[in-house]
Amino acid sequence: MPTETRTITAHTRRRDETDRRNRAGPARWLARWARCAAVALPLVAHAAPPPHWQYSGPYGPAQWAEMRKDYALCARGRRQSPIDIVATRRQAQPQLQFDYRSAPLRIVNDGHTVRVRFANGSRLLIGGHAETLQQFHFHIPGGDRVQGESFPMAMHFLHKSRSGQLVALVVLFRLGARNEALAALLPNMPEAGPPERVLPDTRVDPADLLPASNAYYAYDGSLTAPPCTEGVRWIVMQQPLELSAVQLARLSALFPNNARPVQALHGRVVTQTP
Ligand SMILES: [Zn+2]
Repeated sequence: MPTETRTITAHTRRRDETDRRNRAGPARWLARWARCAAVALPLVAHAAPPPHWQYSGPYGPAQWAEMRKDYALCARGRRQSPIDIVATRRQAQPQLQFDYRSAPLRIVNDGHTVRVRFANGSRLLIGGHAETLQQFHFHIPGGDRVQGESFPMAMHFLHKSRSGQLVALVVLFRLGARNEALAALLPNMPEAGPPERVLPDTRVDPADLLPASNAYYAYDGSLTAPPCTEGVRWIVMQQPLELSAVQLARLSALFPNNARPVQALHGRVVTQTP
């Protein structure tokens, strides 16, 4: 084919393509509308879903137990978390040993907190019993108090043993120096979600977010969100860590308040490592 003819053919083809696209405009718009409607219409047709629990407002902690039958423990439970740790009994307790390992970052914003998930066999050993780390997440303010002191932030490390025993390990934070391990996490915190984000090239080591001292308080507690399940072993590290005001502001922008108020002790004893 001569060069000129080839060029003209190419031009013609391009013009035909443009015409077809213009003609297809309304049809494509209709198709898109139909797709949107297919998604939106069932939402309109069905009754509104029951309201979701929150940390404040009309579906806040004081209403949780009224919202669903299986949330009853949130009001009637007698071993609820968090608490104000005031009187403690000093006694020998099993030592904590951390066998935490770094893993590629798996992070999700579930609308209540940001969770970092683990499935890499990181373990907390309590007197020889192994508890496997499932995830850690953040609360602002910290939830558990010590002698009335409220902490601006806390991290909860949730573990599960083979028998299903849940262990929540709490690291409290005071305002102070910038925390380097948090600094690495903060830019990767999703502002909304789910789904979970996996960053294979960004590693997170949960051991970097533990205090130097393994001294702790322990009490019999619960999940701090509905359904407020009891039978959770609650371990609060005595030595708080620090985070900077800028870091706290960054977290507060995601969750201005995602902590349950302190709960009544109902005669529980808080033990403390000597
Ligand atoms: Zn928590």
